[in-house]
Amino acid sequence: MIEELVRVKRSKKARRVALRLDPVERIINLVVPERMPLKAAYVFARKHEKWVLETLGKLPNAVIYTHGTVLPVFGDQVRLDITIDPALKRTTLKQCDDVLFVKTYQQDPTTRITTHLKKIARAGLADIASEKADMIDKTIKNVSIRDTKSRWGSCSQDGKMSFSWRLMFAPYTAADYVVAHEVAHLVHMDHSRQFWSLCKKLSLDFEGGKRWMKKNGNSLMCFGQKL
Ligand SMILES: [Zn+2]
Repeated sequence: MIEELVRVKRSKKARRVALRLDPVERIINLVVPERMPLKAAYVFARKHEKWVLETLGKLPNAVIYTHGTVLPVFGDQVRLDITIDPALKRTTLKQCDDVLFVKTYQQDPTTRITTHLKKIARAGLADIASEKADMIDKTIKNVSIRDTKSRWGSCSQDGKMSFSWRLMFAPYTAADYVVAHEVAHLVHMDHSRQFWSLCKKLSLDFEGGKRWMKKNGNSLMCFGQKL
């Protein structure tokens, strides 16, 4: 039943009905313009049922944070060691080499672990960015992290950058390419030939990183699903 496969999202902005994958929530949204009758929207969805099933079937398996889960962190493998004890008063996270120890009273510490990982992501991406900015005598004002679904990074004219925190789970050269791309925007705010040639110079593996992001970027959304 198509009604069970999609989630209806009424939209004031949408001009026409559409089906859109939300790779974080792993669901297909049926975006329905405000005035369109729901019945008509379902007729549209039913016509595209094959696409809906295929798209959901192609999603990479969700990576859930449980005891023993191994996460790729900037190219390293980090294993989660989770102890759940309802008697504990607070949650503590401590990383020793390649193990992240989590001691918690929470049944599902996903949100807490994600907060911790986001800090690591910000620090790591900021380090790569400042190193690259140094190469071209530019300074970065601020690096923030977001949970964007379509853009991996952005850069404003005044040197503020933001990145998707999920880049930390990508191969190092892929995250490196995204950072190089934004740093190159400090010099060229366009996608001109000069921009791409600088981006290439700043990247560890321009072709490989770019290709990986294009092909596998969506797979980064599979991390940190709630239990
Ligand atoms: Zn760009």
